[in-house]
Amino acid sequence: MSRLVGFTTVRVGGEAETVIVKDASALKFRGDEVVIGRGSKVLISDKGLGKVLIMRNVGASVRGNLITAESGTPLPLLSRIAAESGLSGLEWACGIPGSLGGGIVMNAGAYGGEISDVLVSADVLTSRGRVTVSAKELDPTYRKMRGLPHGVILSATLALTAGSLEVKNLMRLYAEKRRASQPSGHNFGSTFRKIGGVSAGYFIEKAGLKGYAVGKAHVSEKHANFIINDGDSASDIRALIDIIKLKVYAACGERLTEEVIYLGEF
Ligand SMILES: Cc1cc2nc3c(=O)[nH]c(=O)nc-3n(C[C@H](O)[C@H](O)[C@H](O)COP(=O)(O)OP(=O)(O)OC[C@H]3O[C@@H](n4cnc5c(N)ncnc54)[C@H](O)[C@@H]3O)c2cc1C
Repeated sequence: MSRLVGFTTVRVGGEAETVIVKDASALKFRGDEVVIGRGSKVLISDKGLGKVLIMRNVGASVRGNLITAESGTPLPLLSRIAAESGLSGLEWACGIPGSLGGGIVMNAGAYGGEISDVLVSADVLTSRGRVTVSAKELDPTYRKMRGLPHGVILSATLALTAGSLEVKNLMRLYAEKRRASQPSGHNFGSTFRKIGGVSAGYFIEKAGLKGYAVGKAHVSEKHANFIINDGDSASDIRALIDIIKLKVYAACGERLTEEVIYLGEF
């Protein structure tokens, strides 16, 4: 058993039976394991989890404009590999601290791009064996892949386009934008989904919640949709999320929906 704190960017999470998957070629999946990548979009209960597969299978190969990569490959690395190969389509991913697998589950995106724009197919290990699922079958929508079978994403193929010098310039620009708009500290990125194209941060700020804290977790002063954690309690973060929802509804009449994924019992 090991604590999951160190496997998440928000730095909370109880104990679990962890398996670090560096080579997924002989992986078995029973169906009741929890899978995480870089843990940058999850809030894991203080009570912990059962068996957790932590995907650290990293690697990518480039063939023409196609990149096939292991699911544990960090998105910033993939973005750099694309740029170094003269390919465009993943510039937006350079500052997202997740893995390819987590990026597919979340249909991660930024600055007008998202993974479904470039995804061709994903190989998924289910309890009944491996399947290759096309991007269309995955049925992408905003921060969700509705058609993903229950299983472990092992690898995926992305189709990019020929890039120019502009690719690296865009990556620099996006990195600067991120530095200017997003806080540092332990967090899981945006806590809530947009409402009608408007950032949840707008409503949280309007409700006067910047700086609001439960225990050692607080709403960032820099970006109201970010929760910064200086403590070690997932329960406090969950309580803060629940309070934000209530207060935003009372102040703005808007119902916020979580983008963060809860894992375990709260
Ligand atoms: C500072 C910061 C900035 C961020 N900025 C952005 C942004 O601009 N845009 C954006 O979209 N997101 C952003 N995020 C959120 C996050 O990085 C993305 O959602 C990322 O794609 C999640 O990948 P992960 O590997 O960390 O997934 P995890 O958090 O580990 O898991 C997320 C979900 O995917 C599942 N999962 C993970 N890997 C696999 C796999 N191999 N097979 C099956 N299921 C799997 C998990 O079970 C869970 O349901 C940000 C996060 C942080 C901390």
